[in-house]
Amino acid sequence: MQDFDAIVIGAGAAGLFCAGQAGLRGLRVLLIDHHPKVAEKIRISGGGRCNFTNIGTTHQQFLGENPNFCRSALSRYTPQDFVDLVREHQIAFHEKHKGQLFCDTSAEDIIAMLLKLCAQGRVERWQPCRIHDIEHSDGLYRITTDRDPVRSAQLVVATGGLSIPKIGATDLGYRIARQFGLRVVEPRPALVPLVFDNTAWPRFADLAGVAVPARVSTQTPGKGRKLHEQVFDEDLLFTHRGLSGPAVLQISSYWRPGASIRVDLVASSGGTEPMYRKLLTVKSTSRKQVVNELTGWLPARLAQAWTEGDERLGRAICDVPDKALSQLAQNLTDWQLQPSDTEGYRKAEVTAGGVDTRDLSSQTLESTHPGLYFIGEVVDVTGWLGGYNFQWAWASAQACAQAMVSRHATLGRTA
Ligand SMILES: Cc1cc2nc3c(=O)[nH]c(=O)nc-3n(C[C@H](O)[C@H](O)[C@H](O)COP(=O)(O)OP(=O)(O)OC[C@H]3O[C@@H](n4cnc5c(N)ncnc54)[C@H](O)[C@@H]3O)c2cc1C
Repeated sequence: MQDFDAIVIGAGAAGLFCAGQAGLRGLRVLLIDHHPKVAEKIRISGGGRCNFTNIGTTHQQFLGENPNFCRSALSRYTPQDFVDLVREHQIAFHEKHKGQLFCDTSAEDIIAMLLKLCAQGRVERWQPCRIHDIEHSDGLYRITTDRDPVRSAQLVVATGGLSIPKIGATDLGYRIARQFGLRVVEPRPALVPLVFDNTAWPRFADLAGVAVPARVSTQTPGKGRKLHEQVFDEDLLFTHRGLSGPAVLQISSYWRPGASIRVDLVASSGGTEPMYRKLLTVKSTSRKQVVNELTGWLPARLAQAWTEGDERLGRAICDVPDKALSQLAQNLTDWQLQPSDTEGYRKAEVTAGGVDTRDLSSQTLESTHPGLYFIGEVVDVTGWLGGYNFQWAWASAQACAQAMVSRHATLGRTA
């Protein structure tokens, strides 16, 4: 039986950062991961360039049963703190848009930095190594693994969510939570493409590959079950089975089965009424075909799809009845549709839900079971697309590392 001051399960973003920070503060840390490769999600993130933070991060870009839970950790380890670290390690980066920071060269730079911090903190890493069993007695977590059994007074679960099972995602974190009496908010795929019924979608399947700036919204039950409208203005992408692109990925995190989404395909129009007025103005001055006029607002394939099948629109705009233009404005700016499902964990960037924050301290990420911590995506804290999920991984990891150092010192004094 080998002894450690802290054992961290999961060598992803949160686990690596936590292990390194705890090691650098003097704890003897063991980091265990069952997957042969370290930090696969960082490697594939941001199209291989890792959108490692967002300089505009606040708690408002996160969802979960308690949207305020992430505030404490996020305020104590900010995007600027991570940027300073990235600069210290001479990693070149740039802002893409909306505060999103990406590596200039490769996500590998972030992984190399995290591994270096772990090496400096003398973190021992067992990978690949499977966890067989965890039990707790006399204040110690005893873990049997593929290698030696190990024990520690502090155990950190950083096993992430269920997204992309082929690169190592498992439900171990939720099982550990339940084993120690903690609640788990039902996990669900998030930041994921939406799909539509086989009977409804074929009409639009030919549009696969078409992208357009759009406003996408859905209604979600808020406080007191009052409906709250969530809106995103970003690009939307048609796929063979449904819709994707940043706007749809963002809205997918809020979408619940059975709910509708609304799409404004002319996001700059200002809504149905202003769009109708614009069409009337064009009608009074133009002799062009409707479809040609629409290409001023929409990609040509979309303009065609939204006019074909309605013979009133297959003519010069000056000859179209106002009623048909009103209907067209409505169809373009308030397209209502009901997804049948999401593309699931195979395609989801993250998992919403997770370890219930009612059973965790927002200051330390320690659970109601003493010495047991949960950090990163395994917790019911889910960020928007745009670097927020990594910022949560770093911030929760840092809060946990600091707390473990204090707890270790306290345990040492009382021993
Ligand atoms: C394609 C893609 C692109 C993304 N791009 C971005 C981006 O650019 N910016 C951003 O902010 N977020 C991005 N994300 C989300 C981000 O990657 C995650 O939110 C983040 O990695 C979560 O960190 P984590 O450490 O909690 O979990 P993970 O990074 O998933 O790490 C969990 C670790 O636990 C290990 N593990 C799991 N089960 C077990 C087990 N049974 N035993 C031992 N070990 C186990 C896994 O092997 C893994 O190494 C992206 C996600 C995907 C899928």
